[in-house]
Order: sequence, then structure tokens, then C-alpha cells
Amino acid sequence: MRGYHNGVNCGLCPKCLVVKRLTRHHLLPVRHFGDGSRSLILHLCRQCHDDIEKLIPYIKLSPREYFRIARDFLKET
Ligand SMILES: [Zn+2]
Repeated sequence: MRGYHNGVNCGLCPKCLVVKRLTRHHLLPVRHFGDGSRSLILHLCRQCHDDIEKLIPYIKLSPREYFRIARDFLKET
């Protein structure tokens, strides 16, 4: 469902189920884990990206907890 159109990365947002421009959400925050875990990327539209960021506390959690936050976020539609 993903493709490149006019240089803009578009695809199906797995949260709101609308095809639009997607942004890259790091499942493990870069501020804690660095950019080395860049394969753990969730593609979300800007709105959903802002919503999931609100759920993530500033303090460092274990990777399992970040994955659980993302899973619960995608389940609530
Ligand atoms: Zn979305």
C-alpha cells in the first residue's frame, strides 16, 4: 500500500485507515535508544503520529512497554 508520489511518501495509515502522507515514528525513542534501531519504524500520518507521541512518557521505558503502547494505540480505532 506504500508508494512514492511526487517525492512524498504516501501510504495507508494503520491507525486511521486513510491513504495519506506518512511520517516515520520510531517505536523506540531516539532520545533513549539512538538511531540504531531505525528498522523499528511505524509509518503513521502526521495526526496519528502526534497522538501516539502524547502516550509516550518522557522517562525511559523498557522496549516491551513501547511495543505495548504502540499495539494498544493501533487497537483503539
Ligand atoms: Zn492516521
